[in-house]
Amino acid sequence: MRKIKQPLALYIHIPFCRRKCLYCDFLSYPGRKEMFPVYLKALELEMEQYLNSGLKVATIFIGGGTPTVLPAEAVTRILEKVRGLAEVLPGAEITIEANPGSVTKEQLALFLQAGINRLSLGAQSGQDTFLKALGRSHTVKEVEKTVVAARKSGFTNINLDLIYGLPGEMLDDWARTLKWAVSLGPQHLSCYGLQVEEGTPLARMVKEGRLTLPDDDEISEMFLLNTEFLPAAGYHQYEISNFARGGAKGTAMGYRCRHNLFYWKYRDYLGLGPDAYSCFSGNRWANLRDLDLYIKLLNEGKLPVAARERISKQQGMAEFIMLGLRLTEGPDPVIFKERWGKSLEAVLGSRALPLIDGGFLRQEQGTYQLTPEGMLVSNRVLTELLAPLL
Ligand code: SF4
Repeated sequence: MRKIKQPLALYIHIPFCRRKCLYCDFLSYPGRKEMFPVYLKALELEMEQYLNSGLKVATIFIGGGTPTVLPAEAVTRILEKVRGLAEVLPGAEITIEANPGSVTKEQLALFLQAGINRLSLGAQSGQDTFLKALGRSHTVKEVEKTVVAARKSGFTNINLDLIYGLPGEMLDDWARTLKWAVSLGPQHLSCYGLQVEEGTPLARMVKEGRLTLPDDDEISEMFLLNTEFLPAAGYHQYEISNFARGGAKGTAMGYRCRHNLFYWKYRDYLGLGPDAYSCFSGNRWANLRDLDLYIKLLNEGKLPVAARERISKQQGMAEFIMLGLRLTEGPDPVIFKERWGKSLEAVLGSRALPLIDGGFLRQEQGTYQLTPEGMLVSNRVLTELLAPLL
């Protein structure tokens, strides 16, 4: 691999969980503990293929799956291996995802020692009935206990993942979850609408009429509640679904997730592990979505890549704008001009005007931003805006 000068974001996928949640479409295997050592060996082989001493790593995100099903020592070894091969920049944001109730105080202390400085907890809901409906393996109490334990251990940057639009959930229920989450005092909140993925047990239950989901209007109300309630509680909305303390416009970065900002700002990232994605220097590839094949190929000295493409200029411009519009500040107009040699205005031109008139888009300081109404129908807005580039 050629030397990359710009710092990049590194994602490491751990494809194991205690058990499978009913809505889950991620590549994660319940159980399969016996695979941990062979998987970790394969992961190291993949690291050796990509990482080198010229590579600067600005953020690391250990996600899954549930990375904390691994012993803390294994996580420490993963990070040592990264540091041995590449340059992890001082002050790098290093996140680990954890499931409440499955992470111990000892693990938390070892994670901090290993340099992990951000904990992302899959809390999902503040009510046990909804956790049960999702097939989550933890309770609300366990989320509360884990947050307290993490803070006591020394974590000062905690994210809670939440899902709205759950089976049977009403606006009041979601309001209660938001209030509860804020009362725990995390630095960051991610609030995503439930996606019912084909082939999951949840999709089957919905199809069979055993579960009822809120309708589009109710979902919109829940989304709009996020954009009103969370900023009023001190969480700046910096992305459609993400809210951070101390990250208001014009101030320091606060607790925005630096790793995910690499994706939204269309900067280089490298993903390791099965089903991980990478994108840099105009190239993109996806790893195989199969654990056994991933391990086999790496042991044979081959890369476990399923698909690879060179990103065209048109495609690059469209993706930069599409991802940038997820951010409340919009796509960066200066970087856009540097990368593509044209201004955002020249590329979007008159296509933006009807969307601005319709109240879906705003134009400010050489860039464009989705309004809350635009965020609600972002797919439609993006299709109209980017049609000539797609
Ligand atoms: S914990 Fe996350 S990755 Fe694991 S089964 Fe549940 S949703 Fe999927």
